[in-house]
Amino acid sequence: MVVATAWILKKHFDGFPKISDFELKKIELPDLKDGGEQKLLLESVFLSVDPYMRPYSRRYMKEGDIMIGTQVARIVESKNPAFAVGAFVVGSKGWRTHFISDGKDLQLLPSNWPESLPKSLALGTVGMPGLTAYFGLLEVCKMKPGETVLVNAAAGAVGSVVGQLAKIGGCKVVGCAGSDDKVAYLKKIGFDEAFNYKTVKSLDEALSKASPDGYDCFFDNVGGEFASVAINQMKKYGRIAVCGAISQYNDSVPQKGPYVQFPMIFKELQMEGFIVSRWSNRREEGLQALLKWVVEGKVKCHEQVTEGFENMPMAFMGMLKGENLGKAIVKV
Ligand code: NDP
Repeated sequence: MVVATAWILKKHFDGFPKISDFELKKIELPDLKDGGEQKLLLESVFLSVDPYMRPYSRRYMKEGDIMIGTQVARIVESKNPAFAVGAFVVGSKGWRTHFISDGKDLQLLPSNWPESLPKSLALGTVGMPGLTAYFGLLEVCKMKPGETVLVNAAAGAVGSVVGQLAKIGGCKVVGCAGSDDKVAYLKKIGFDEAFNYKTVKSLDEALSKASPDGYDCFFDNVGGEFASVAINQMKKYGRIAVCGAISQYNDSVPQKGPYVQFPMIFKELQMEGFIVSRWSNRREEGLQALLKWVVEGKVKCHEQVTEGFENMPMAFMGMLKGENLGKAIVKV
């Protein structure tokens, strides 16, 4: 019998998450059976920590539930011929070291995944965050060559892909991030302009200096005050993809800010929220495009890898604080 270790949400987060909000739990797994749902035993190899876990936990979880999340896992035992022992899959089984599945809810890594490419990228650039950048830019921002694209949290999992895809698409790209090292990284991977939003004297001035003519597309990962300032620098008919609002996820009291109607009306803007799962029927298309660009070296990937399953809460909280460059990953 295998005993899995899992992190549960002991207490709903109130403000910024605390280590005492989490608890480790042991779970005995049943033996596999030929029929029914107990066909595969898997071990998590890499787990993802993502910003969405913060707002989703409040909406969709109750205290005592296993923390939600995705992993790259290896098949350890199989009674399902579609999954060979040793194969790698992406699962959404939450923060746990081992689990049982019938295979229906698992996705094999693309069959053309190169041996030399880290499998953890299936949680980042060639996974959900990469798809978010891809569909958000193409379908929501509807970027066109020659346009100027603004992205915030630009050195993170989604933002770093947004900037690079916008460059591939023939756009000028402006990004901002929360440290000088991150800004240097953005320039290294091809952003035309980048600045540290924590140290600029005026966000308004920094945005207009980076693109005096304004912005056609704004891929917003941050929301709050940043978005309120940036919306006024949109060009006429500009498009805003509302991807995330990480500046608000830990608020106990909702922020109040300037309202969007005036710039929306006078600049005739389009502003659309989205969730990447809208394009789950085009997942394969997106993954193949991203995989190709990564293999060709056109999209660079950086990962912030935390070692040890026991450190998942620290990795999660570190990511919310901005300690990650690129995708925050935990290696079991
Ligand atoms: P990141 O890898 O970008 O990590 C989060 C980053 O957010 C931190 O590194 C930090 O970078 C930045 N940050 C934290 N607090 C603040 C703040 N108060 N103001 C500005 N920046 C802050 O995460 P992801 O790329 O995974 O996610 C980025 C955004 O996209 C999130 O809002 C997430 O919820 C959203 N998302 C939405 C999806 C969708 O389907 N709509 C799917 C996936 C993600 P820094 O040092 O620059 O401050």
